[in-house]
Amino acid sequence: MRFKKFFSRPGKNKRRVFLFGSIVLSILLAQGWLIFQLKFDKPEAGAEAEQAVAVNSATPLFTLTPQEITVSPGVKIGVPILMYHHIELVPRAEDDPIRALSVSKEKFEGHLEYLRKEGYNAVALTDLYKKVAAGEATDKTVVLTFDDGYLDNFEVAWPIMQKYDFKGTFFVISNRIGTAGYMNKEQVKTLQDAGNEIGSHSLSHPDLTRLSDKRLKEEIEGSKKEIGEIIGKNVFSFCYPTGKFNARVSSAIQNAGYKFAVTTRRWQPFSTDNPFEVPRYRVNSNTNLENLLNR
Ligand SMILES: [Zn+2]
Repeated sequence: MRFKKFFSRPGKNKRRVFLFGSIVLSILLAQGWLIFQLKFDKPEAGAEAEQAVAVNSATPLFTLTPQEITVSPGVKIGVPILMYHHIELVPRAEDDPIRALSVSKEKFEGHLEYLRKEGYNAVALTDLYKKVAAGEATDKTVVLTFDDGYLDNFEVAWPIMQKYDFKGTFFVISNRIGTAGYMNKEQVKTLQDAGNEIGSHSLSHPDLTRLSDKRLKEEIEGSKKEIGEIIGKNVFSFCYPTGKFNARVSSAIQNAGYKFAVTTRRWQPFSTDNPFEVPRYRVNSNTNLENLLNR
C-alpha cells in the first residue's frame, strides 16, 4: 500500500528528489570551496612565518608594541646615558646641598653645544632601543634623562633642547605632577607630543626595596596607569627612586609591562640582556662632559 501511495504521486516525489539533491550539492560545493581556501591559504601564511623567523634569527628578548620592535639579546650598547635633575636659571652656591642635583642653564647649554659640535644626537631611552633593534649606528648617540619631573625641566631645559633639536626621557613622580616646583599635566603632555619620552619615577618616590608586595605594585602600576592616561601612550621606561632596587623590584617592574629601567649605577657599556639595570652618568654642576665622554 505504501509503495502504491509513493508512486501514485510521481510529480511531487521528483520535486522532493530534486530539492534534496540541490541541498546535498550545495553542501558539497561549499565544502569544496572551504577545502580549496584552506589548502591554498595555509602554505602562504606558513611561508610568511618562516621568513619572519629567518629575519630575527636570535630569539627576541622582547617586543615593543604597537611599533612591533624586536630587541635581540646579547647586543652591547656603548651609548652614554646622562642623568640630570634640576636645570636652573641661577647656579647654586657651593655649599647648597641641591647643587649636586643641579646644573645651571648656562652649563646645560654648554653641554648641548658640545654634543652638537661633536656630531652627537640626543634621543630618548626607548628611541635608543629602537635604533638598536633596527641595527642603526649609535656611535654618535647619547640619551638625556631627567629625574623627578621638576618644573625647570620644562621651563629651562626644554627650550634649550629645542634649539639643538635634542630629545630626552623625563621621569616623573606621578603624585607630584601639578604640585609646586613640578611640571603639570599639560607640560608633561607637551613634552611627550614633541617627541620626548615620559617615564615613570613611581607614585611617591619611596625606597621600593622596603615596600610590601601590595604597596610595590601600587607604586609601579599606579604611576604607569596615571602617566599613561596623561600622555595617551604606553609607558615603557622606569627610573628607580634614589636608585634603590633588587630582584623583587625589577621583576615587579617587568611584570607591570615596563621594558626598561634606569639605575644610578655608574655608566659603562651595557647589554640588551639587562634592560632593567641600565647604568647612567650622574651629571651635576661640576661635571666636565668632554672628559666624561672621552675617558
Ligand atoms: Zn628621584
